Amino acid sequence: MNHLASSKHLAPSLDARSIIRVYNYARVDPGLLEGAKKVAAIIFENVGVQTAWVDCSVSPEGFQSPAYAACQSPMGPADLVLRILPQRMAEKLRSSEEALGSAQLCRESEPACELIVFSSRIDDLASKGYRAERILGYVIAHEVAHVLIGAGHSDEGIMRGEWSRHDLQCISWGLALHFTKAQSTQLRSAILRRITSSVQEVARQTSSAAR
Ligand SMILES: [Zn+2]
Repeated sequence: MNHLASSKHLAPSLDARSIIRVYNYARVDPGLLEGAKKVAAIIFENVGVQTAWVDCSVSPEGFQSPAYAACQSPMGPADLVLRILPQRMAEKLRSSEEALGSAQLCRESEPACELIVFSSRIDDLASKGYRAERILGYVIAHEVAHVLIGAGHSDEGIMRGEWSRHDLQCISWGLALHFTKAQSTQLRSAILRRITSSVQEVARQTSSAAR
C-alpha cells in the first residue's frame, strides 16, 4: 500500500486515505467505540477511502501514552478530528435538540476539519433498542461526509437529513444504508483533492524555504 509520506509524485495511484483523530470526551465505552470505528471504516472502504484512527487522550494521564505524540503531529487537509461530546458539552453547542452530530465546513486546503457526535443522543437511541455502535458508526460516516462534500442531504441512504425508524432499524440490524453512487465518487475525489492540496502546500513551502 502506498502511504502519503512515501509518495513523492502525484501519481494516479495515490491512496485516498484519511487519518481521523478521536477525542472521546464523553468516555464512550472503548469496545463500543472500536465497533463504531469499524462500522465507519467499512462504509468508507466501500467508497474507496481508507481510514486510520488515532485515539487521542482527553485526560492528563494519557499525555504519557505513545498515541499522544501521534496526536501532536501536523495534520493534512484529508485528516479529520472527531470529538465525541457528553451532554454537558453538547448543550453549549447543539443547534438542534434532535441532532446526532454536526460537522465543520471548511476549505479543502484547511487541515484538521472537525466533526462532532453527541453521545447522549446515541444513548437515547440505544435505550430504545437500537445498536449503539452501529448508529455511532453511521453518524460518524454522515458527519465525515458533510466535511468532505458539504452540508447537503439526500432523499435516501446515509445522507438523509433525518433517519426514519426504518433507517435506524436497518442500521442496527446490519442492513446497510449506503452513500449514493454520486456521493461515493464525490467522497473519494474530495479526499484525493485534499491530499493533493497538502502535497502542493509542502512543495510550495519547500520551494520558498529553498529561496
Ligand atoms: Zn446531516
